[in-house]
Formats: sequence, C-alpha cells, structure tokens
Amino acid sequence: MTRIAENVQKVRAQILAACQAAGRDPREVQILAVSKTRTHEEVREAFGTGLRAFGENYVQEGIEKIQALQDLPLEWHFIGPLQSNKSRLVAEHFDWVHSLDRLKIAERLSAQRPEHLAPLNVCLQVNISHEASKSGCSEQEALDLARSIATLPRLRLRGLMVIPAPTQDAAAQQAILAQARQLFQQLKQHLPALDTLSMGMSDDLEAAVAEGSTLLRIGTALFGPRPSKP
Ligand SMILES: *Cc1c(COP(=O)(O)O)cnc(C)c1O
Repeated sequence: MTRIAENVQKVRAQILAACQAAGRDPREVQILAVSKTRTHEEVREAFGTGLRAFGENYVQEGIEKIQALQDLPLEWHFIGPLQSNKSRLVAEHFDWVHSLDRLKIAERLSAQRPEHLAPLNVCLQVNISHEASKSGCSEQEALDLARSIATLPRLRLRGLMVIPAPTQDAAAQQAILAQARQLFQQLKQHLPALDTLSMGMSDDLEAAVAEGSTLLRIGTALFGPRPSKP
C-alpha cells in the first residue's frame, strides 16, 4: 500500500470512530482532501483511494491541477482567501467556494458563473474566533449576508465554513466549534436548504465531528507535512 493510501485508511478509521463516539451516521461526514502544494500525481493517487473532492487555496495553482486532471471525475473546492480580481477564474473552474465573506464577491461570482455549468456551491466563511487578521464575516453579519447570497441566481448557498484559531486548550477549542454549530443551526432555521458545515482539519477532526461538521478539510493527515514556503 502507498503512503497516501495508508494515511487515507487511518483518517477514515479516525472519522468512523469519532462518528461512533458522537452517535452520528458516518455518511454525513465527507472528506475534502486539501491538495495545496501537492502535485497532480499525488492527487491522482488520492483519487485511487476513493477520494473525489479536493481543496485548493491558490487560484493559479488550483487551475493548473484542474486542467492536468480533467480525465478524472473530481470535485474542486476553492478554500483560500478570494480577491475580487480572481473571482472570474474561480467561477469558471471550481465547483465550490468555501471562503465567501462579502456580498460584492458573491454578486461577482453569480454574474460570472458560466451558463453551461451548474450553480456554484458556496459556503459563507465566518470568523468564529474573532481574529483580526483573518477573513470571514462576523457572526452578527452572518444571517443577513446568508439571506442575500441565497437569492443570487447562479450560486447555491450550502452552509458555513470556519477556521478556528489554533489552540492547545481542548476546552477552548471545543467551545469555539460548538459556537459554530449553534450558528449553523440558527441559520438553518431561516434557510432550511443549508446542509454543509465545513469545519475541522487534520488536528481537530475528532472534535469537529463531535460538533456536527459535515465536511472535514484535511491536508497533512492525508498527504504528509507540507513543504515549508521558501
Ligand atoms: C491548508 C488548509 C487546510 C488543511 O490543513 P491541514 O492541517 O493540513 O489538514 C484546511 N482548511 C484550510 C482553509 C486550509 O488553508
């Protein structure tokens, strides 16, 4: 078995155990394989283990991989910060955007989504840990913004994305994840079609499953440590 195949097996076992502990149906929890910095050969190998959804943070890098892997039935998610001058490329090449936090960009994506493609799936990114340096709207803004995005014709609002601030304090981590779950439940009361809580990475996937995540964004645990940037 290859290294990636072994890692995928381990992560699947971890998710299964977390679902059992939380009394959740494992079919409700999907893996988004975060492939930033990885080669298209590595993505191809991950596809061979059954993974279908891949996440990219950088527009150009993502599009190169999308084009190199066109022979595979993959689903591509854009999860990095999105600037308005890159929105057209994202609308034309990706299936999902997780990092939507402004109405202006949502309107651009909707206008730029090509007619021959299905509506673009989007998640509203919420800055749940109130980090000054991070993208994401505030919890107070989330409902109004979600309602406006839900009216855009070429977008399909699927849910929320959060990136909690890293912490060693397990109780603090759990509290932040619980807050995200609560906000997601609140939004669902107004927008019942929402079905996605994009939450949890390699280091907090068990806690995220316990707090209702439906989509885990996992890089390191699948592909190994990322090469550090020069
Ligand atoms: C890189 C990244 C991940 C994956 O992180 P790992 O710790 O490698 O699992 C998940 N979400 C976002 C938004 C990322 O940028």
